[in-house]
Amino acid sequence: MGGGPVLDLAGVSRTYPGAVPVEALKSVTFSVEPGEMVAVVGPSGSGKSTLLGLLGCLDVPTAGRLLVAGRDAGRMSDGERSRLRREFMGFVFQQFHLVPYLTARQNVETALLYRGLSKAERGRRALDALERVGLTARAHHRPSFLSGGEQQRVAIARAIVSSPQVVLADEPTGNLDSQNAAMVLDILESVSRNGTAVVLVTHDMDIAARASRRITMLDGSITSDVRAAATA
Ligand code: ADP
Repeated sequence: MGGGPVLDLAGVSRTYPGAVPVEALKSVTFSVEPGEMVAVVGPSGSGKSTLLGLLGCLDVPTAGRLLVAGRDAGRMSDGERSRLRREFMGFVFQQFHLVPYLTARQNVETALLYRGLSKAERGRRALDALERVGLTARAHHRPSFLSGGEQQRVAIARAIVSSPQVVLADEPTGNLDSQNAAMVLDILESVSRNGTAVVLVTHDMDIAARASRRITMLDGSITSDVRAAATA
């Protein structure tokens, strides 16, 4: 793994075609280093989801250059982009997206399928990830027996079990009360401190204030990009 940014955007635009094309992202330039925790904020329609879709390689820029771990995601085939996503990224969603009939551990294990690992090794790594989010005691519960906060922590365990370089989180605390939201943010912070870049989209300014860096969007452009003063 080389040095340098894990995400690097130069003049990235995304226009949705149509009778009236929508310029959802307009020449956005920034990069994210390993270990950063970046909150992307902005009103509805400002381009946050579009940006997250590009960073997650679910979509490609219509102009500009997007490098993920030094590789040009805009010039890859769909298959290569899927592989990049699987190898370098973890995803956390507002609605958790856990498989209801699988236990917490089995849900986490799903992120390790097709990697040539034995079942025993998958199970061991899944338990390690659950321990990192403080859920060892819940490993054998199915999602319906877990609180919302616990379900989101399982989802984070699933996102980090493959040791990704980037975790992308879309309103990860949107369905949680403030206490559970704080716990989820603590965990995402510890994930970033271990060297994984975390990019989270939120419209909650209190949540954004917890990130080490805040990018504000309006009408498809970045209007500010502020790093918090380093705290000891
Ligand atoms: P946010 O996540 O900040 O609410 P979005 O990225 O969803 O913003 O949307 C940015 C702009 O792009 C909006 O004007 C939205 O209507 C438009 N948009 C989003 N997705 C599509 C799409 N698939 N086709 C056409 N326009 C879209």
